[in-house]
Amino acid sequence: MSPETHAEAAAPASIESLLARRTGWGRSDAVSRILAAAAAPGVLSMAGGIPAPDSFPVARLAEATDRLFAGSAVRALQYAPTDGIAPMREVIAARASATGAPVGPDRVMVTAGSQQGLDLVAQTLIDEGDEVALDDPSYLGAVQVFRRAGARLLPVPGDADGMRTDVLEQRLLAGARPKLVYVVPHFHNPTGAVLSEERRRHLAALAERFGFLVVEDDPYGDLAFEGSRLPSTDVHSGRVVRLMSLSKTVCPGLRVAGLVAPAELIGELVAAKQCGDLQTNTFGQYLLADLLGDPEFLPAHLAGLRTLYGGRARAMETLLRERLPWLEFERPRGGLFFWCRLTDSRVGSDALYAHALAQGVAIVPGTPFCIEEDGSRVLRLSFASLDDAQRREGVSRLATAWEKALAD
Ligand code: PMP
Repeated sequence: MSPETHAEAAAPASIESLLARRTGWGRSDAVSRILAAAAAPGVLSMAGGIPAPDSFPVARLAEATDRLFAGSAVRALQYAPTDGIAPMREVIAARASATGAPVGPDRVMVTAGSQQGLDLVAQTLIDEGDEVALDDPSYLGAVQVFRRAGARLLPVPGDADGMRTDVLEQRLLAGARPKLVYVVPHFHNPTGAVLSEERRRHLAALAERFGFLVVEDDPYGDLAFEGSRLPSTDVHSGRVVRLMSLSKTVCPGLRVAGLVAPAELIGELVAAKQCGDLQTNTFGQYLLADLLGDPEFLPAHLAGLRTLYGGRARAMETLLRERLPWLEFERPRGGLFFWCRLTDSRVGSDALYAHALAQGVAIVPGTPFCIEEDGSRVLRLSFASLDDAQRREGVSRLATAWEKALAD
């Protein structure tokens, strides 16, 4: 019998046994289950960070589409450079410079959402066992990316001013050597915290001293209900990667976001993207370059969003305080979420989640966001995508869920 025939005769390996080790590191069934439940017919969702459908600039996008097709449709349908079309990189560079350190398009890349930006950063910088410091609780999409890249997570506690950089410093002095420190600098998902100016300076100084990179993921910075945003940490240090999502401020479906990176890193990130998808969709880039290239568009559009979400947050706060006195929370100053604590020890957030779903309203219990913190008494509620009637009905269903959970 030839060696080939002998090998063929052996029992084939199971498909599961072929999976790469990393597939076991970063998969959360909890998240998929929660999102699927929230999408079930008849369920009012306070679960996902879904922007209000009535906030999308539909007419303006239709105009940009007509203009694009009247000019040269072929441009929008052709392959484009991996780092993005020039007009899109230019508008991202201009926006980045207006909200942080001045930067040219040469340090900008267009990504398929900030989620891809996060993944590219992790793939490019993290080897198995490398440390990544991040808030606890943190955006669960980031936790999954870093886990799947093989990172050891270094959770850092926070408060209303964001990550406790004093605690981070203690850990660094005690020998921790993260390659990356991941922050959501405005209206953190899920806690709503804003990283204070003082802590941005401190974080930047630590990055310079200990040599890590700050990954600043900022989808909510333009959604302050009052006042303005703080400058990016990159005004204090060159060791910052900025992820500039457009999902909450224009729309998520086009999958176009900006990434700004130090000159030494941008080429490697582009190489990683080339392996993944060659480029971000050309059509979406031209549309968004048209909108953002119009100096009138963004200021007016953002003003409308702040009014819409600020109003929805106030209406939600009033209802929660009236109808759900067993919830404790800080009033959000921007973004899309209420981060709430259950004050009555008889019911935990997982039990409330299950009862809420049975009543037809979806929430997110705290556990999937938490790394070392106890998530069993916290939960996240999004107020963004429900209109007045849906919000009243959703809160009413939550009140019933609470009664049922108590009686259980
Ligand atoms: N980062 C954070 C903190 C988010 O909340 C989200 C979306 N919920 C993302 C990144 C992903 O954004 P994008 O749609 O741009 O991929």
